[in-house]
Amino acid sequence: MISLIVHGGAWDIPDAEIDAHRKGCLHTLKTGWNTLRSGGTAIDAVEQAIRTMENDPTFDAGYGSHLNLIGRVELDASIMSGKTLRCGAVAAVQRIRNPISLARKILAESEHILFVGDGAERFAKEHGCELCKPEELITKREFDRWESLKLRKNFKTKEAFSKPKRPSDTVGAVALDKDGNVCAGTSTGGTMNKYPGRIGDSPLIGCGTYADNETGGVSTTGWGEAMIKVVMAKTVIDLMEINGGHPQEAAMKGIEILHRKVDGFGGVIVMNKHGKCGVSYNTPRMARAYINAKMAEPFVAI
Ligand code: ASP
Repeated sequence: MISLIVHGGAWDIPDAEIDAHRKGCLHTLKTGWNTLRSGGTAIDAVEQAIRTMENDPTFDAGYGSHLNLIGRVELDASIMSGKTLRCGAVAAVQRIRNPISLARKILAESEHILFVGDGAERFAKEHGCELCKPEELITKREFDRWESLKLRKNFKTKEAFSKPKRPSDTVGAVALDKDGNVCAGTSTGGTMNKYPGRIGDSPLIGCGTYADNETGGVSTTGWGEAMIKVVMAKTVIDLMEINGGHPQEAAMKGIEILHRKVDGFGGVIVMNKHGKCGVSYNTPRMARAYINAKMAEPFVAI
């Protein structure tokens, strides 16, 4: 059963932004679904879906990402194939318009997994990924947010998830294709006002992203420091492995562990190897959408 699930972040999404999140999730789902339906691979679908969200300024990924402490956008992304367990990831890149596509190139064409800094850009140039000027990733909305925050000396990353109305629109997708291959990916501008060079869970395999054809796939969003401590994505995969493949149960247990052990906040999307999906979050809202071959209409909820 081909299947696709996407998310666009977990936080206290304000009423005024619900429509943009709903439209963004649905548009993304359609893009990835067209790929899957026309026989494309799970990797193609995940890359296409996440590219769409990176190009949509609604979300904290690619264009429109949050600015760090010194007013720059630094992007993180990862992608993993459940068939081969190959993966690719980039962190803190400043001139890559679509980090998920660079991550995919790394998955496909490099013996390495995670690139940062000059080396990431060098690899991008060598492999035909589009580079941009750092300022081309900045929107007025994010610049204004940063202006209002940078004067606040005591801003803590955790507040982005535990306090109301602090945005965190990381994006992610998990897909199952007609050959039974799973892929998961995640892309983010990270947390607002983060320290330069700070890297969250999203580009870390096992924390923000995991896929294994024997079990399924996971993408996470939320307070990255907490997600890393509990190795969130792989934890949820392991839970699904021992619970007989129930994605919803694994998602809920994963969020319970996140909260109980490290006082963490966030959300997860999960798919099992048969294309069945689960979602759990302990933030006020989470943007997500999914569809599979048995559904006449996509499901979308914020
Ligand atoms: N997990 C991301 C990070 O900590 C942020 C998010 O999901 O909104 O970088």
